[in-house]
Amino acid sequence: MTPPLTTATPVGVVGAGTMGRGIAQVAATFGHPVLLHDSNPQALEDARAFLERILRRLVEKGKLAPGQDAEILNRITLLSEGLEPLAACGLIIEAIVEDLAAKQTLFAQLERLVASDTILATNTSSLSVTAIASACQRPERVLGLHFFNPAPLMPLVEIVPGVATASEVVSRARSLVEAWGKTPVVARDTPGFIVNRVARPFYGEALRILEEGIADAPTIDWAMRTFGGFRMGPFELMDLIGNDINFRVTETLWKACFYEPRYRPSFTQQRMVEAGRLGRKAGIGFYDYREGATNPDPVTDPTLGKQIFQRILAMLINEAVDAVFWRIASPADIDRAMQLGVNYPKGLLHWADELGLPTVLGWLESLYDTYREDRYRPSPLFRQMINRNARFFEEADT
Ligand code: NAD
Repeated sequence: MTPPLTTATPVGVVGAGTMGRGIAQVAATFGHPVLLHDSNPQALEDARAFLERILRRLVEKGKLAPGQDAEILNRITLLSEGLEPLAACGLIIEAIVEDLAAKQTLFAQLERLVASDTILATNTSSLSVTAIASACQRPERVLGLHFFNPAPLMPLVEIVPGVATASEVVSRARSLVEAWGKTPVVARDTPGFIVNRVARPFYGEALRILEEGIADAPTIDWAMRTFGGFRMGPFELMDLIGNDINFRVTETLWKACFYEPRYRPSFTQQRMVEAGRLGRKAGIGFYDYREGATNPDPVTDPTLGKQIFQRILAMLINEAVDAVFWRIASPADIDRAMQLGVNYPKGLLHWADELGLPTVLGWLESLYDTYREDRYRPSPLFRQMINRNARFFEEADT
């Protein structure tokens, strides 16, 4: 039995961009010596300046004791040349460019350096963990550890075993992620894992409602906030994420799922990207953020609002139910992932239990009857569970 990873275990992080620097901060905060490597020396310098600033701010806010910022920073060694020093690491987390060939080359190089029980993890959002692991002689030591941005603040980590990953590697990684104060969920190695897959209808169905002319963006956002208790509506969120990024995630998932119609990207969003209306970062997206600009008020008709909310919620629940059907993750992990990864006010499967599966199935069947599109087909699990009079959680849990 391999000993558990402790705070004495050196942790390697490869890629010092948005994610790598955040993951390095987490590991160093929890006491690990951290080796942070990037092939671009400028990225390392930027990461160092960024971490200095962030940690200083945490001291100012009283979240770290005076001097703790320097202690954390001192635990992080920057490596710009050569991977060799990473040989000492018990865990290496890769956060380089999202490119399969680049990641495979790196994993093959790392494996030649490290000890036989070193865990190699990838932070990929959309590539197959199994394909990355296939570059290694011992793919059983490779898994996905999918952190969310910003890594120090977001509590969720999706743990993704590949086809060959050893269960011991999963349990060691899980214990470590928990020791870092994070909540791990385990997802099957399928496109989008849990969060990026199950969240798709929040954007896609909202865009569809807009495209059909049923309601405008402010009205759809109002409906989801008012009747669903979502912190932000879909268009506000797409503008925050960036339409370019949100569109790319949808397109990647749609292709990776062999052109599954539920994930088909929207022309409207594609045009927004082409027009440079990327959202907040561009000053304009679905809303106009420029100084002096005004945006239309929502049409606050409760009948319309409830219809919009029910349609989007039905599609979200269908996605979550289907993820259970295809054994992507357990119902508890799916609910946890959506609450912690994208701030949903309630777990979708708890919501399904609360509403009653026949009610949600009824909403989906009515959409399917209207459109006769595969996109609206209900997951087979609805009928299977209704026939057994089953629910996802015990009554007391809801
Ligand atoms: P980024 O572009 O901010 O940073 C990537 C860094 O990797 C750059 O500094 C680059 O110089 C470096 N790099 C590229 N190739 C390298 C190599 N071969 N060896 C060493 N360094 C190399 O990217 P990011 O947003 O931090 O994403 C990193 C990974 O995390 C990707 O796989 C991405 O899909 C995933 N991810 C991103 C987010 C997010 O919100 N940004 C969230 C979860 C997961």
